[in-house]
Amino acid sequence: MSEHSPRKIAILGGGIGALAAAFRLIETPDWQHHYQITVYQLGWRLGGKGASSRNEAFGDRIEEHGLHVWAGFYQNAFALMRAAYDALDRQSGPIRTINEAFLPENNVMLGLPDRAGWQPWHIYFAPQPGEPGDGTKLKLPGIRGYLLKILEYLLHLHNQIPPAQQSVMASSLPPPALEGATLPRADALLRRAIAQLDHPSSPHIANEGDISGLAALLDYLRTALNDLYNDITKFVADLRNLVLTFDLALAAAAAIVNEDVLTRGFGVLDQYDLTELLGKYGAWPETLTAPAVVALYDYAFAYQDGNRQTPCLSAASAFEGSLRLLFTYKGSLFYKMAAGAGEIIFAPLYEVLSAAGVQFEFFNRVTELIPDQGRIGAIQIAIQAEPLMAPYHPLRTVSGLPCWPENPLFDQLTNGDELRARHIDLENTFENYQIGTKTLHYGIDFDMVVLGIPAGALASLTPQLAAVGPRWQAMLNATRTVATQALQLWLDAPLSTFGGDFTKPPPKPDPVGPILTAFEPPFDTWSDMSHLLKFEHWTQPEPQNIAYFCAVLSDLQNSHPNEPDPQPAANAMVRANVVTMLTKTIQYIWPNLVTGAGFRWNILHDDAGESGEQRLNSQYIRANITGTERYVLSPPGLLQTRLPAAPDEFENLYLAGDWVRVSAINAGCMEVAVMAGFDAASAITSRIGRQITEPARPVAPIEDSNT
Ligand SMILES: Cc1cc2nc3c(=O)[nH]c(=O)nc-3n(C[C@H](O)[C@H](O)[C@H](O)COP(=O)(O)OP(=O)(O)OC[C@H]3O[C@@H](n4cnc5c(N)ncnc54)[C@H](O)[C@@H]3O)c2cc1C
Repeated sequence: MSEHSPRKIAILGGGIGALAAAFRLIETPDWQHHYQITVYQLGWRLGGKGASSRNEAFGDRIEEHGLHVWAGFYQNAFALMRAAYDALDRQSGPIRTINEAFLPENNVMLGLPDRAGWQPWHIYFAPQPGEPGDGTKLKLPGIRGYLLKILEYLLHLHNQIPPAQQSVMASSLPPPALEGATLPRADALLRRAIAQLDHPSSPHIANEGDISGLAALLDYLRTALNDLYNDITKFVADLRNLVLTFDLALAAAAAIVNEDVLTRGFGVLDQYDLTELLGKYGAWPETLTAPAVVALYDYAFAYQDGNRQTPCLSAASAFEGSLRLLFTYKGSLFYKMAAGAGEIIFAPLYEVLSAAGVQFEFFNRVTELIPDQGRIGAIQIAIQAEPLMAPYHPLRTVSGLPCWPENPLFDQLTNGDELRARHIDLENTFENYQIGTKTLHYGIDFDMVVLGIPAGALASLTPQLAAVGPRWQAMLNATRTVATQALQLWLDAPLSTFGGDFTKPPPKPDPVGPILTAFEPPFDTWSDMSHLLKFEHWTQPEPQNIAYFCAVLSDLQNSHPNEPDPQPAANAMVRANVVTMLTKTIQYIWPNLVTGAGFRWNILHDDAGESGEQRLNSQYIRANITGTERYVLSPPGLLQTRLPAAPDEFENLYLAGDWVRVSAINAGCMEVAVMAGFDAASAITSRIGRQITEPARPVAPIEDSNT
């Protein structure tokens, strides 16, 4: 290879991790001089688990794998999209800027079970200065800073407890044994701890004396709180929530102090499941099943095999993720996308990358990676379709927005008629349809490989890598994924008519509708998505509400060993779960949609005019069960088996995705996938001795969380 010939980079898969890597590479000045980049993508669309498309047969409705929201701490993911929208520089159309693309959500509801069913626990998160990924440096608090914030939060919670109950806290405290301490009340002890931790003369980590003092102080608070616990059943719901949250935060603080997280980092907590760790530091059984804890498991689909009896969430990921979420967001706590993720995230990335010269080979399903002398020597690919005239143009414009269609654009394909006639799903890896094969060779077709295919799909694609790479084998063995289920309903009435406390507008409403989690299975999460209606094209009368529901799907419930293609049976299973929800639990959140005769099926929008349960035929119901669609879990004990973006076993292999080890969080979310993609690009550029210059809006450096 001559000094000046561009390195050929094969990017396998087109999820957000892989596209983030491509995006960073094209930020290199004069990048085409240095790289030739090709993305190989199965099927007709980009986005992977985040993909969405428009269904022309149903009012151009948006169809997704499940609800996707972004958190205000997604510093890297937002920086990526900010750069993409800047590069697009749209002068017209309904969504031109990042602020039009992502809409703030500061209100969150958690489901509170009570004797009458379920009540909402409304939580409002005050907007913070700045905007995520806005290019200003993000100063993370560091572990000591997080601990300080937890103590301040404990003080805040304590101050919300009515004085009568505060006195319980005060009177039950044993005489303070801390030397020099004469302050009898919980709030005074907390103030003392905060002052101790915040002392400017010890800017890095608490010294030994600090830690033992803090540990003793947290012990006192625990004793006091446990006295209060004896009385907890008599407290009304609001106070009970407050006290349970106090208990949770107190156990979290004690875990950080006693597990030596201050010096060893969050990774030390990976040996524990979250509730195991909180229980070890005294959290009550009621706290471990309280909505705030359940919400974390629901948010991360953290149930082994989708079984709710076996929750599994690494305490390291849970601590780091939730502390980032709560204490480091810019702007809003969450952001909902103004349209489908396909047109908000993946169409813009595709447009920018292809305009810059990145090649996209759609309908290329990777079937195996072959190692050779410590590197990837060959890549085998099944060809699913050929464009009549290359390149294939994948997008269709809907409401002025470039979107992904629900099917390939058959008219552009040599085998389009067959694909259309046989209803072949090119994303269904159980079908394995192909019209040919090809092999890419090292040194001819590629020099370096960025692997963006998710971990859940890699066992069958990389057996030879596993045979020669023990760390690769360990990663495959350790990977845990879970199936999920998604439901989208279109309803013929506005939310304001659904009744009940869950649908009442909060005091400070957001521009988008409410979001609820920790609700009763089978669907624990509901989000009002009516803001999407303006981008869909229904016949009159149009639907007036869109509701998304999402949750894990049990593998036990979903096991169909005798089916060559389990997808239809899995979809039927999800549909049964939808019927369960609509007939049993929806009454708690939408009481007016249930009468003595049961759920008002007629409220479901249906242009086909079906009746009863058959109106579900016009809704969108999806089981995400293939290896590539399954959500990547973060169970305890597996952090060390995650491989970094530049693993050392194969010299030309780079990894991009939410299953890759990054500097923080290490949980299945788009932010982690983007971080991995950026890491992969940085490793490539530094390997060949070139630095990516700072992009126009630089990604704010993430401070090492161990400081
Ligand atoms: C139901 C659900 C809800 C979620 N909600 C959120 C949320 O609210 N917020 C959030 O941040 N995250 C959420 N996530 C997680 C998020 O979707 C993932 O973290 C993210 O999409 C992972 O990106 P990735 O690039 O690692 O992989 P993927 O998105 O899985 O992309 C992999 C790519 O590889 C392609 N591919 C697969 N196999 C092959 C093959 N053999 N050959 C060629 N190409 C192939 C795929 O088509 C895809 O393009 C959710 C996930 C699910 C399942």
